[in-house]
Parts: sequence; structure tokens; C-alpha cells
Amino acid sequence: MSTQKSRRDWESLADTLSIQGQAFIDGHYQEAASGASFDCISPIDGRVLAKVASCDLEDANLAVASGRAAFDAGSWSRLAPVKRKQVMIRLADLLEANADELALLETLDMGKPIRYARAVDVAGAARALRWSGEAIDKIYDEIAPTAHNEIGMITREPVGVVAAIVPWNFPLLMACWKLGPALASGNSVVLKPSEKSPLSAIRLAQLAIEAGIPAGVLNVLPGFGHSVGKALALHMDVDTLVFTGSTRTAKQLMIYAGESNMKRVWLEAGGKSPNIVFNDAPDLKAAAVAAASAIAFNQGEVCTAGSRLLVESGVKDELVRLIAAELQAWQPGHPLDPATTCGALVDKQQLETVLGYIQAGRDEGASLVQGGARVLAETGGLYVQPTIFAGVHNRMKIACEEIFGPVLSVITFDGMEQAIAIANDSIYGLAAGVWTSDINKAHKTAKALRAGMVWINHYDGGDMTAPFGGYKQSGNGRDKSLHAFDKYTEIKATWIALS
Ligand code: NAD
Repeated sequence: MSTQKSRRDWESLADTLSIQGQAFIDGHYQEAASGASFDCISPIDGRVLAKVASCDLEDANLAVASGRAAFDAGSWSRLAPVKRKQVMIRLADLLEANADELALLETLDMGKPIRYARAVDVAGAARALRWSGEAIDKIYDEIAPTAHNEIGMITREPVGVVAAIVPWNFPLLMACWKLGPALASGNSVVLKPSEKSPLSAIRLAQLAIEAGIPAGVLNVLPGFGHSVGKALALHMDVDTLVFTGSTRTAKQLMIYAGESNMKRVWLEAGGKSPNIVFNDAPDLKAAAVAAASAIAFNQGEVCTAGSRLLVESGVKDELVRLIAAELQAWQPGHPLDPATTCGALVDKQQLETVLGYIQAGRDEGASLVQGGARVLAETGGLYVQPTIFAGVHNRMKIACEEIFGPVLSVITFDGMEQAIAIANDSIYGLAAGVWTSDINKAHKTAKALRAGMVWINHYDGGDMTAPFGGYKQSGNGRDKSLHAFDKYTEIKATWIALS
């Protein structure tokens, strides 16, 4: 069982990995048309893992043309849903069969602990593909309630060519949240992974062919946002653009769509989620366990990170003490050690960003309870201690801006109204937690929160059955659940007059 592998086992496996860095277009691996490449560097030790193709406009043109040709040929787009389902399930099986390799790629590439790369990222990616595949032959179209001499059919059709631009924090998982419903619906997809973590997406392309997805239906273009990402977003033959990443890039993509062909744009962006703990929380220890995980899991590089802890004054001291104790279990370690819970930050730029916010917290007068420093620098890895700031005001930089690192801002409040006002005082609206024993307070708070996901007496729950996405500048689309299929289908009304 791979869960029993030691660090040494994982390191031996890493030594034997053959890492593919080429783009995947029309069923083949190939260099970027320009021949350009970039070094894919591991944040664990600064090692160059692979030379990766640096795609640009020419590759985008090739990939979109390949996707369009495959779509028009119909071998996937017009395949019976039950057949597409079988292929999607085969792809999910292949992810599971290659889980060790995919998890290793994820860990080496972006620094997350191997235990989560395998149990969360790869397992979740396979689940997303399987769930979407299983759903596709159970979704019915509609007949309108017409007069007797008419029939109004409301049918869903695949949109055509989808460009999917994804981030580096859960590279394979975010890709598969898009690919599941996009492919199951019959679309062709051009996937652009982040330049900071391209390896698992490149490997996935080959598994898709092995599973039976026809050449051209899934193309993968590694490269930079400002080159190949922009080329896809401006492309006149991309029908729909789906995106997960920062709010800044999301806004730019809306501009690109307006400047080009008005392609549909669906955005899953950043967050600064409030985790609200009332004095009557049913179990303060459970709240502390969840709050620690909400800020330290994936090194805090999580869109739904519970980065603003809103705590009612009566339990503030006790809760902060409990969270500080819990965070001892989240001290950084080598990501290939199966015991490690908190790994390396993705790259030097992210390390500097996180350390910059820690300095800003100090400068603005928040009080540092714990952490606040880079550690294990002698290994060449990019590690930051899980950090708690108390005495934070909601207008401080560390409370307003998404840090995307393990830095918790503790804000004290009194009463439900104040909690709601502080929670909603954010440009973001992705997620929120509410801890209370009072069912009325729980529901009233949940209803008042301007957030796409609310967790009561836990944090970060959910599975493929429920939509994932946010309000306000956290985005507009929803991944997961049957709602995700809306992004990948057009609705057609066909009206028939009966003579
Ligand atoms: P990012 O916006 O920098 O990059 C995301 C992707 O966009 C990358 O592939 C990048 O190359 C590409 N890109 C960048 N500039 C571009 C441009 N001008 N044109 C086209 N493409 C461009 O985000 P990131 O740093 O990779 O990811 C972190 C962000 O993702 C955080 O804000 C996080 O909250 C967010 N995120 C959101 C969700 C969600 O579901 N809401 C999930 C995970 C991450």
C-alpha cells in the first residue's frame, strides 16, 4: 500500500520518474512551436525537474484548431453519453492506477505533502472525473408546456472548444473539476496549467488517450499566463473560457473576452474567508482543530482558507490558545515524508509574498502570537511556520488581502450583527464557517453571509454533490455538482408546429 511508503521509498520512486515536459497537441507530445522552454523548479530543494515547453500564440492556434476539428468530426462530441461515461470512468481508473506517480509529480512540482497529494489531490481528481462521467447519461433535456399543436424542445448541446486555465495550488484537482463536466458534455478542451506546476496536467493528457478520449479532444499547453494564457483568452475560436486563479487575472480575462469574441467566461477566483466562532460554539476544541487545518492545510495556499478567524470576545483567549497548540501538528517538514502535514511554498516569489504580509502585520500593529518566520532554509526548501496574528482589525492589509500562505488573522467581535458585518466587509465572498450551538443563530448568520459556501460547526466540507464557488470578486461560476454542467453547455429551444 502506497500509504505505507516511507520517505526513502518516495525518494527512490522520484529518482526513477521520467518526467515529460512537452506540450500535448492533437494526440502527440511536442515541443513549443518556437522551441522555447522554461525550467520547472522544485520548491523542495531548488532542483530542476524538467525543461517544460513554453507555449505561445502559435501553439494556442494549433491546439484550438485541433480541438475544433475533433469537435466537428463528432467522434467525441456526438458519441452517446453512455459511451462517454465509460471512457470518463476509465480515465478515473487510470488516475487511480497511476496515483503514486501523479502524487509525486504534484509534490515535487509544488511542494505539498505527499500524503495529501495522494489522498486529496489525485483521489479527488479521479472522483471528479468519475462523478461527472456517471452523471452524463442521467441528465435529461426538457419539453416546454406548450399548446396541443406545438412542441417546444429545450436541449443542451456542448459549447464546442473550451479553454481551461488553472492555478498551481491543486494543479490536477482544479484541472479535473473542469475536465469532468467539460469532457463528459462532449466538448474539446485546451488545458493550460500554471507555469508553476505544469507536470501532472502534461501526464494526464497521455492517460486521456489511453482511456479512449480521441486525439484533439484534450490538448495541454504549458506556458506563461501572459503568453499562451492570453492567446487562449483572446482566441476567436474558443467558445468558453473557464478559469481558476486570482481575482486580478480573472478581471483581465473578462476584458480579453470583451476584446475578442465575447466567449463565455466562468471564473473561480480568490477568497478571504471568515471563520466565525461564537461564545456558544458547541466544542471549542473541534473549532480549534478545524481552524488550524483551515489555515495550514496546503501551506495555506487554499482559496477557501479560513484566513480571517472572527471570534467572539468571551472565547477568544481560550480559542487562540487551543489553535496555537493545534498548529504544533502543522510545523513544516519534508513533503516526501509521509508524516509531514505542512510542506513547502510553491516558489520564491510566493515565499517573499507571504513573508511580506507577515511584516505588514507587524508594521500595522497586529500582535504576533506564534510563528512568523521562514524555517528549514538550509535544505534549500521554501518553508514558513504557520503564523497567528491576534488583535487584527478588518481594515488591516492582512485582513483585507488574500495572503495565500499559512497566516491567520484573529479578529474579535461581540454579537451576531457585528460578526456578520465584519464577515461581509470584504471584496471576496467565497466561503465561511459558523460555530454555534444555537440553530437560529446558525441559520440567520448563514443566510446573511454573502458567500458561496457556508459550513456550520465544521470547516471546508463538501463533495462532488455540492457546488463550489463564490459571490462577489470570488467569481461567478460553480465547479462540482450538476450545476457545473451549465458552464459547458448551450441551451437550444427548438419549436415545432404540428400541422
Ligand atoms: P493566477 O491568477 O496568477 O494564475 C492562474 C492561471 O492563470 C495560471 O495558469 C496563469 O498562468 C494564468 N494567467 C495569469 N495571467 C494570465 C493572463 N494575463 N491571461 C491568461 N492567463 C493568465 O493565480 P495563481 O497564483 O495560479 O492561483 C492562486 C489563486 O487561485 C488564488 O487567488 C486562489 O484563491 C485562487 N483559487 C481559487 C479557487 C476557487 O475555486 N475559487 C481554487 C483554487 C485557487
